Amino acid sequence: MQDTMMKVPLSLNHLLERAGKLFHGGQIVSRLPDKSYKRHAYGEFYRRARALGAALQGLGLQKGDRVATLCWNHHAHLECYFGIPAAGGVMHTLNLRLAPEEIGWIAADAQDRFLVIDDVLLPLYEKFKHLHAFERVIVFPFSGASVPAGFTGYEALLAGADPDGFAYAPHEEDDPVAMCYTSGTTGQPKGVVYSHRSTVLHSLAACMPDYNSARNTDVVLPVTPMFHANSWGMPYIAVMVGAKLVFPGPHLHPDDLLDLMTQEPPTLSLGVPTIWMTMIQTYEASLKPGSPNQGRWKLPAGMRSTVGGAAVPESLIRAFDRHGIWIMHGWGMTETSPVGTLSYPIAALQNASADEKYRRAALAGLPAPLVELRVRGDDGRDQPWDGKSAGELQVRGPFITGGYHGIGSPPDKFTADGWLRTGDVVTVDELGFTRISDRTKDLIKSGGEWISSVELENTLMAHPAVAEAAVIAIPDEKWSERPLACVAFKPGEQATPGELNEFLLAKGFVKWQLPERYEFIDAVPRTSTGKFWKLKLREQFPQ
Ligand code: ADP
Repeated sequence: MQDTMMKVPLSLNHLLERAGKLFHGGQIVSRLPDKSYKRHAYGEFYRRARALGAALQGLGLQKGDRVATLCWNHHAHLECYFGIPAAGGVMHTLNLRLAPEEIGWIAADAQDRFLVIDDVLLPLYEKFKHLHAFERVIVFPFSGASVPAGFTGYEALLAGADPDGFAYAPHEEDDPVAMCYTSGTTGQPKGVVYSHRSTVLHSLAACMPDYNSARNTDVVLPVTPMFHANSWGMPYIAVMVGAKLVFPGPHLHPDDLLDLMTQEPPTLSLGVPTIWMTMIQTYEASLKPGSPNQGRWKLPAGMRSTVGGAAVPESLIRAFDRHGIWIMHGWGMTETSPVGTLSYPIAALQNASADEKYRRAALAGLPAPLVELRVRGDDGRDQPWDGKSAGELQVRGPFITGGYHGIGSPPDKFTADGWLRTGDVVTVDELGFTRISDRTKDLIKSGGEWISSVELENTLMAHPAVAEAAVIAIPDEKWSERPLACVAFKPGEQATPGELNEFLLAKGFVKWQLPERYEFIDAVPRTSTGKFWKLKLREQFPQ
């Protein structure tokens, strides 16, 4: 007998089995294309996920084969999250917001064998199918219509499979379960592959009380798409604890999200800041006398919400807090599973002023358990954690990727001693709170000094007239680069460049840091994952 603990491999299948045994009455609610609701119990989810596993094995799925999904957030996508790995396959989420050529390129690069697709997305499939031949296309009748000829029906496939006789594919804990491509905002998309082990460890770490703290009694609303870094791991976490899940389907407009939050009030939600910004502006506008939406919505007071993937302005945290909703700001990447850091209240700040607490809440926060971080200066040395010394954020840990599909670990992405180079410029303070200043590519170098675009943006977005602001560098003969601020106002509001500069000066910026120029635009362009798309702005305003 060995004299320490058992060597039981970590496995995603354990989470599915646990859910089937313990939480069969738990609820899964999905919003359908016609905005009605489909309700499932966890018991049904358990049987259907295993039926999917059995069906895929019946189709000849071999261990390690990639099965792509092109789906919104809903119960069948959740079944793929567990059913595909259960059969030994690798679930590869395709991002439906990418250009068709990019989707086709990614499917070919991953050599996806099968595709599971929502019927409402078949027109998109038609646009990229010439770029990659899937052996079989399985159509989920999300709209309720019958499955067109020439495709395999998802429901028929499940109905013909036996969940009781299903046997999990044999596996080791380092075997792959899922795959997601980086969105390619800063280069060619690259495939990140998650394992049983990394997914289970990430679920445990990201579910800590100081992080997502999902519990069985929670009602979880994942607004982050299941094709964007696995909806930040929330589908796995929710199933691990048996929380009620509410999926928004294709309806992500702020009006629809507010309707959903009013009808199925969540206690925990997650999404990128751009969505949360428009949601709070829409909600607050509805409270004004004479609004056509007056009384239509109720924000779920007491809800916790993880917001990240891009910088979260302090003004956003304050705005939600006014309505009893606590925003937890986190940093992560597709490469980090994705939770890397998160800002949460710590004992050392218990007696701090409210302003100081908000200030810290707006930082990217402390590394998750099992995540190590360091800040590397241009000279290759570790920077001190003093809140001032900036450098590249580098991370390491058991749920951080060690390489990319088919590429390995190129030196621009990994250091010689095996840390991931994030390309983010950060400072870390004496309490371990990380501040993301910029991506390396977004920093503005003016007269030998760095200006953080993120700090300018966040402060501009605290101006009462400003809905959105994105700051980019423009070339300058004298200073090499200067900041250009692209600003979108709230409906009916306006401000002059002079007024905006006055506001920035009052908030502590000094003159040379002020934007050289302002461009007033209708809205900041978004990337496929809903973040501000600075590349587009740089193309639009090259001078
Ligand atoms: P992509 O790199 O293609 O946008 P990811 O979703 O993996 O795809 O994005 C990771 C990047 O998003 C990080 O490297 C960082 O630049 C940015 N990011 C993530 N969270 C934050 C945050 N809280 N604050 C600022 N930037 C963030």
